[in-house]
Amino acid sequence: MCSTPMNRIFHWGPLTAFGIIKIITLMTIHCSRQWWSPQESISGAANFLLFFSLSGSTIYHFITAIYEGPGYLPLKWKPEKLEDTQYLQFCRICEGYKAPRSHHCRKCGRCILKMDHHCPWINNCVGHRNHGHFTAFLASAVGGCCVSTVILVCWLLTILSRRNINFPPPSVFTLVIVVFTIGLSIGVVLAVGMLLYFQLSAIIRNTTGIEDWIIEKAKYRRLGTKDQFIHPYSIKWNVNIRQVLKWHCEPDGDGIIWPVREGCDQYTLTREQGYQKQEKRRRARRYRTIFKVSGSWIPITYGWRVICHPPCTDEPRIRLEPEDIVTVTRWRRHWLFGEKMQERDDPKMRVKGWFPRISAIEVVENEDYTDSFSKDD
Ligand SMILES: [Zn+2]
Ligand SMILES: [Zn+2]
Repeated sequence: MCSTPMNRIFHWGPLTAFGIIKIITLMTIHCSRQWWSPQESISGAANFLLFFSLSGSTIYHFITAIYEGPGYLPLKWKPEKLEDTQYLQFCRICEGYKAPRSHHCRKCGRCILKMDHHCPWINNCVGHRNHGHFTAFLASAVGGCCVSTVILVCWLLTILSRRNINFPPPSVFTLVIVVFTIGLSIGVVLAVGMLLYFQLSAIIRNTTGIEDWIIEKAKYRRLGTKDQFIHPYSIKWNVNIRQVLKWHCEPDGDGIIWPVREGCDQYTLTREQGYQKQEKRRRARRYRTIFKVSGSWIPITYGWRVICHPPCTDEPRIRLEPEDIVTVTRWRRHWLFGEKMQERDDPKMRVKGWFPRISAIEVVENEDYTDSFSKDD
């Protein structure tokens, strides 16, 4: 599933992103040449240069984040000391242990070094190797769109004020495109700006999107006790920042061994992950489907309540037949997340995802039956 960089680009995510970058760049160049010509003033030329640098930097870091990739953990990887495997999870698809901070990405089909998230816009994961380029891409895009919003809005105000303009009046078509581009540009500033804010705050704390979840659960597990969970990778804010943000955007280290805080070791976080996984297994419940499930994201046959309360995640929705048994590990009011039990235990054929809660009933084990009856009596 690890496709070539060329295949990565020909996907709706990168192509849409390219389209947005292109339209904003072209319209900004068009309007700034008319409204604030670089040939007529130094400030105009400086503005032009600033916009070109930000636009060029956006494209450069965007393409590099795709080409460089997040960095993959070698297949069949295992730690140097064999006894350390007791602290690590095993990936049955890559047939190796997951190094600290590595996670398996279903879409990339590989274990990713310091995986942050799978980003559909670059159609690749954000991880150890491309974290710097990805953050630089977000920052350049937000900066570039701020400049273009100012230029496009000023151009539009000049036209609307009907002052004597020293350029030919635009056609209605151009006006519509400019208004559309202003909307697009403001949308990028808001949406990508928010993503940039979350990225920067995670970089300062030296965590990833996935690790934030683990840390939150670790704290929750210790509520009411004196025990405190210390995130092992967060050393000092300036050291954390330097691990990711540098001029050349190249990461330090191999992405397997990480500097850790005093009192922690390489496996502090993976041990915690192991405990959390055990707890999850203990909480798991078996469900039997009573109706067919199509695997649709909008299952109209199950009513508007199910459609209006979808789980806010891009995890798959699974297809099930009546009488299938599913091991459920997450519960929402109208949806359940679980793995279908299958006769052949092939890790590549696992069916795991969300399905409507109404389509299944919990399988109550015999002992639980007697238990609940005796309690009621
Ligand atoms: Zn894997
Ligand atoms: Zn991925």
